[in-house]
Amino acid sequence: MAKCDEGYLCEVCGHEVDEIVESDLYLRFILGLVDPEILHIASERHLKCNPTFAQYIVHPKFPSLQVEGDFDKRQLDPEFVATREQEITAGYRRLLEVAEKQIPITEMRE
Ligand SMILES: [Zn+2]
Repeated sequence: MAKCDEGYLCEVCGHEVDEIVESDLYLRFILGLVDPEILHIASERHLKCNPTFAQYIVHPKFPSLQVEGDFDKRQLDPEFVATREQEITAGYRRLLEVAEKQIPITEMRE
């Protein structure tokens, strides 16, 4: 995968996404929501810049986010929220592992 010198810029805040552990794109990739074919052209975001998604990460390494309005998880069905939290937090743990062990993209989803 080619990575240009500037790295990937977050489409929300415009700053570089320095670490894979802050990447919304890679977390969604690990969760099977992004095709490998489009990984290199898909737009990148910080997890913290996508709070409607990242609010479901429940992990000591991730500062919890709150969403105001209709997508606030505190307003949503608790059962739905619990399932989302389980899935997305599991993906986040995998993301930390991938970063720590420098697991290649092709093996990230295992
Ligand atoms: Zn950002």
